[in-house]
Amino acid sequence: MKVRVEEGSCHGHQSCAIAAPEVFGADDYGNAVVLIQGVIPTELEAKVRRAEGNCPERAIVIED
Ligand code: SF4
Repeated sequence: MKVRVEEGSCHGHQSCAIAAPEVFGADDYGNAVVLIQGVIPTELEAKVRRAEGNCPERAIVIED
């Protein structure tokens, strides 16, 4: 699994960082950034899917 955030769609709620703090952080404007480059470790996949499902802006894109 890989994951990215659609910059133009993210509104900075940070619920993704709460759901998966190992994977999502914030830039200087409070918008989400993905902290892990490349493939997400298997043990974090469920958290990423939860973050994706909870993002109110549908800004998280999972690429298998
Ligand atoms: S939950 Fe979605 S909109 Fe909110 S900061 Fe995370 S990626 Fe951005």
